[in-house]
Amino acid sequence: VAAENTPSLWVDSVPATQRGQHKYDRGHVLVLGGGRLTGAARLAGAASMRIGAGVCTIAAPAEVQRIYQTGPAHIMSAVADTPAAFLELAGDARRNVLLIGPGAGLDCADDLRAIVLGACGLAGRSVVLDADAISAFAGHADELFHVAHDHCILTPHEGEFARLFGDLPGSKIDRVKEAAKRSGAVILLKGADTVIAAPDGTCVVSTHGPSWLATAGAGDVLAGMIAGLVAQGVAPFTAACMAAWMHGETAWRLGPGLVAADLAEGIPGILRDWA
Ligand code: AMP
Ligand code: MG
Repeated sequence: VAAENTPSLWVDSVPATQRGQHKYDRGHVLVLGGGRLTGAARLAGAASMRIGAGVCTIAAPAEVQRIYQTGPAHIMSAVADTPAAFLELAGDARRNVLLIGPGAGLDCADDLRAIVLGACGLAGRSVVLDADAISAFAGHADELFHVAHDHCILTPHEGEFARLFGDLPGSKIDRVKEAAKRSGAVILLKGADTVIAAPDGTCVVSTHGPSWLATAGAGDVLAGMIAGLVAQGVAPFTAACMAAWMHGETAWRLGPGLVAADLAEGIPGILRDWA
């Protein structure tokens, strides 16, 4: 059994802005931007700021800088053509959360794994891994489990989950608990029901999302929301629960026909009621 994800689980942890804070007090999310797909990282970055991160930078190859520079205007861009270049940017102590995977692509899976392994090895950083950052470890899962820790949050859908963890037995709750234990990371397995587990065995089921959430980019927005909450100091498991619920709530309020960009834009309306 697992508890249902309700606001009572996390309402006391919703970040509150304070007079006298500056933007870096609210966290700096560094997102790895793809070279071929560029929308996913921008959606995730926008969501991280809409949920309150003070600063977001997308690091991407030089040849696509123009795309990242032309929108959204509140997201900064930086050049990273190699894993070493990304990890150097990640070494800036103010960049406290690293979000890797949305739109990253699997053309250079070796490089992507090097980025993820390096990111997980950086002291004092939380790491959100989604999409291709998970798929890149198909056949290399142990390399990731070796470095992952309880400030790593993995947000797979069923396909990505299977690539990393294989065919685990039992219910969805059993599988996600086992995955969290095996990897040492917080695992959020998406779907109509989203299951979230921590390495210590804590597990929550999140059913608060309408069917019209199944739209391109919705998962990228969720990953960005988690990153933005962790950047503000929310604990990883709590951030995953809070983000999953608010993601669903935003979708309920917007109604059918929403697209992922609307979801990011809708977050302030939710914060108004919960922060
Ligand atoms: P992704 O698979 O990365 O595109 O993410 C899809 C997002 O939509 C996740 O947040 C899922 O939990 C959510 N989602 C997918 N299908 C459904 C569904 N049938 N009902 C509610 N939410 C869904
Ligand atoms: Mg996805």
